[in-house]
Amino acid sequence: MHKQDTIVAIATAWGEAGIAIVRLSGSLAVELSKSVLRFKAGSGFPPPRLMRLASLAEDDGSVIDQVLAVYFKSPESYTGEDLVEIHTHGGTLVAQLCVESLVRKGARLAEPGEFTRRAFLNGRIDLSQAESVLGIIRSRSEEALRAAGRTLLGELSVFASDIREEILVLQSALEVELDFPEENFSPYRNSAHRGDEEWLGSISTLRMSLDDLRDRCSVGLLLREGIRVTLTGRPNVGKSSLLNALLKRARAIVTAIPGTTRDVIEETVTWQGVPIRLVDTAGLRMLPRATLIRGTPPGVTGDFRAHNEIEAMGIERTLDELRRADICLWILDISKPLDDEDKSYLANLRDKDHIVVLNKADLAVTHPPAISEEDIRASLPEEMPVVLSISAKTGDGLELLKDAILSKAMGSGALDSGLNVTARQLSEINEALSCLVLAETAMAEQKGQDVVAGLLGAARECLERLLGLSYDDALLDSIFSRFCVGK
Ligand code: GDP
Repeated sequence: MHKQDTIVAIATAWGEAGIAIVRLSGSLAVELSKSVLRFKAGSGFPPPRLMRLASLAEDDGSVIDQVLAVYFKSPESYTGEDLVEIHTHGGTLVAQLCVESLVRKGARLAEPGEFTRRAFLNGRIDLSQAESVLGIIRSRSEEALRAAGRTLLGELSVFASDIREEILVLQSALEVELDFPEENFSPYRNSAHRGDEEWLGSISTLRMSLDDLRDRCSVGLLLREGIRVTLTGRPNVGKSSLLNALLKRARAIVTAIPGTTRDVIEETVTWQGVPIRLVDTAGLRMLPRATLIRGTPPGVTGDFRAHNEIEAMGIERTLDELRRADICLWILDISKPLDDEDKSYLANLRDKDHIVVLNKADLAVTHPPAISEEDIRASLPEEMPVVLSISAKTGDGLELLKDAILSKAMGSGALDSGLNVTARQLSEINEALSCLVLAETAMAEQKGQDVVAGLLGAARECLERLLGLSYDDALLDSIFSRFCVGK
């Protein structure tokens, strides 16, 4: 290894703190750290994994700090290389001087994520674990942190490698049977050839396992990114009041004048350890002879119209938010009969991620409500979204609404089984799943074993990219550039 192979960086956050940690990794880590550290007479450089007090000295010999040094000997270190950590006093100035001194002696400043990249390249962790390190750093909620921890411990890798292995066995068995139709080489066969039914059964079982894994990863992604919940409905139905009630404070301006919330307001709360991003929108309204807004959210047909240009911009943003939402709350005022816009919206709702909320249920105590949950359900297509009555004013029904949001967003993936994945990993899993679904269909429709084997191969390649069994520098660059320097 060359001198420049030893990298150095401050591993702790910038700013004032109790300590700052300088990390040094590579074949010259020990030699270079010895050149800046002075140990007490009789106690030399520490043996592996033992912290020892030292003075940090500048090039002219002047001592700038009392530090602790710890040495992790290759291969038993984070990077798999010789690694030394120097714990200086915080803030960052001493650590900065220490790094500069080490660079003058021959270390190179680390690139973002380079320590973790080396951990991957040296086989200490696989790619999914490397990416989960980023998940841990970026976690904003306890559940997200737990999900990242499970991934770091290798749960994703174990499941994904098992499925990949099984796909490989199945694919090879199919290919053997293709090449030697009369022979008896298939690992699946004893005496007879596998029937199509048997092949189909095996592919379906694999598809179901991958489906489960995908659900767990989707939950993990939601835990990290937060569930995006959009509050939408006609002006004055109580969107801002509901936002405030869910946030338990007054953030949005609530007035009795329709069209008050012209811009999009976004706030994050945590429910049961899950980050929820609540988005209050400008609302949609349909008026004759008004501005036509192009584009509709999924599940919605019909034109939405605005009074004026500013409101038109608000509605554009609303439509945009609806497209991005994980869960969309369509809010109605229980004291107002449904108008044409509501009816058209409800009749066209196809999206499973909607919840219809009947607000102002408290008014039903004094006035008979203009609409009921039953009416709404009757006007909805089958496989319908949840319909709930609440009162943003009194807080009635809010807990049920929160539960409904969580369970809808989480699907069948249980909260405590979430796995932290990046969008890249999830897209590889989804891609692998699509290939397996196609393979299943091709098998069922007897499209030919070569077609099925090809699709199984494509699914396997996705999982190999997920695990980092096949990768290129561009992929590694795109993953590790999102890390901070020092990680
Ligand atoms: P938005 O335009 O949909 O954001 O509606 P707002 O939140 O600004 O509320 C419009 C009006 O409805 C205000 O006067 C609120 O006080 C009132 N309001 C909202 N929620 C409730 C509720 O649950 N019960 C009652 N009685 N009034 C409500």
